[in-house]
Amino acid sequence: MSRQKIAAGNWKMNKTLKDGLDLVKDIRANTTSEEGVLTILAPPSVFLKAVAELVADAPHIRVAAQNCHQEEGGAYTGEVSVEMLKSIGVSHVILGHSERREYFGEGNELLARKVDRVLAGGLLPIFCCGESLPTREAEEHVSYVAQQLEEGIFHLSAEDFSKVVIAYEPIWAIGTGVTASKEQAQDMHREIRAMIQKHYGSEVAESTSILYGGSVKPANAKELFAQADVDGGLVGGASLKAPDFVAIIQSF
Ligand code: PEP
Repeated sequence: MSRQKIAAGNWKMNKTLKDGLDLVKDIRANTTSEEGVLTILAPPSVFLKAVAELVADAPHIRVAAQNCHQEEGGAYTGEVSVEMLKSIGVSHVILGHSERREYFGEGNELLARKVDRVLAGGLLPIFCCGESLPTREAEEHVSYVAQQLEEGIFHLSAEDFSKVVIAYEPIWAIGTGVTASKEQAQDMHREIRAMIQKHYGSEVAESTSILYGGSVKPANAKELFAQADVDGGLVGGASLKAPDFVAIIQSF
């Protein structure tokens, strides 16, 4: 079964409006829907509307928020709801990025509520998981990620689960320049697909896109994306430069 190939760019807290829109224009001008890759851009929330407008008629480019609130709306000063994101043309929401887990104390229980809210609002979650270096060195990475998935997304019905994109991002590889080897990435992605298969069966497992994240760059994207269970990448630093991100999009 062929799975959706995805190159997602997480800008984190970078770019001004002008620089961000120039980046989007550049990416758009140098990619086409014929490449068969879904490009997802995740700018900071203040730029989402402008980015969504720029790519509204580009079927191969979608826009993701980097976070959302778990409640439908109300007195949550400074927060952004799923309904708001939907109203400006956002299609996906990144949830559970390791930076949100570490700096904002987001745990699996909260993330499960956010996942539910995103799906209830008709958007699609990109659910991040991944272990720290000590966890990997203790050879506990598979059970650690299994618990993240158990508590974060495996409560979903098969119908809802089939709308989720998973991003495996070992924390030791994020923003460090150290990339997981293609074997490490493939091993973990195979494990994750096996976990999905156990919960939801082969059909769902075979159709779930699992992205690798952690220092993906033009020099390593091709070999990572060539792995049987790696369906694309969630890219931080290299998504901020159009030539690099376009090269990554074209690495499938
Ligand atoms: C990320 O932010 O999800 C990420 C993987 O960052 P980088 O590509 O810079 O390691």
